[in-house]
Amino acid sequence: MDIQVLGAHNCESQKSRQMSLLIDDTLAIDAGCLTSSLSFPAQQKLKAILLTHHHYDHIRDVPTIAMNFYLRGSTINIYSIQPVYDVLSTHLLDGKLYPKFLEQPPQNPTIKFTMIEAYKVNQIEDYNVLAVPVNHTVPTVGYQITASDGKAMFYTGDTGPGLADCWRYISPQLLFIEATAPDSYEEFAKGSGHLTPSLLKRELISFQEVKGYLPKVVVVHMNPALEEEIEAEIVAVAGDLNNPVTIAYEGMQLHL
Ligand SMILES: [Zn+2]
Ligand SMILES: [Zn+2]
Repeated sequence: MDIQVLGAHNCESQKSRQMSLLIDDTLAIDAGCLTSSLSFPAQQKLKAILLTHHHYDHIRDVPTIAMNFYLRGSTINIYSIQPVYDVLSTHLLDGKLYPKFLEQPPQNPTIKFTMIEAYKVNQIEDYNVLAVPVNHTVPTVGYQITASDGKAMFYTGDTGPGLADCWRYISPQLLFIEATAPDSYEEFAKGSGHLTPSLLKRELISFQEVKGYLPKVVVVHMNPALEEEIEAEIVAVAGDLNNPVTIAYEGMQLHL
């Protein structure tokens, strides 16, 4: 499995993009920067998009990628939970902001949306996909993606503390987990369903307790304005746990 980090942040600027991961050029998780990061030919290679939740920084490029597929007369598969469908159909793709790509064109809608159930393994393209609920301010699932060779990665999406139950369902070799703000923002993080490096460390300790090992960890969804502080604290977490914990960046490539 080849994984590319297209967007690693929670805010966009010239130098930072919002969350999108790309697996083997064909499967994307979250759509924070799919059109802004990928050339037209690269966009056309996409077979499916998984969405963790309906916050704008994770679904932003759904309308723009749908438009590009529509103009080529092709279709794109999107998978997520019911609340994400509800928000897409009543907001971004409601026919006022942009065409109703979930229904248009009527004979062959551009977006083929498939509802997925948490805790049930879905075969999507060449992967086993397992959605596991995490703790955010709106319904959110993390995704474990398992390739045909048995290698697995898990991406939490946006989450606050309390992942011990989530860990019971997954066994990834590579974990993408969020750290939105530095430790001085702990109250903010707890109130808004996010993690700081210290909170993340506690989740990794709970992972170790539940699973008996620690995977390689890549940290995502940083606030770019606070990233230096976050990074320094993550370096300390990696040292304390004696385990690779690295900060993601746009264009980062990982192989599993
Ligand atoms: Zn977010
Ligand atoms: Zn969110």
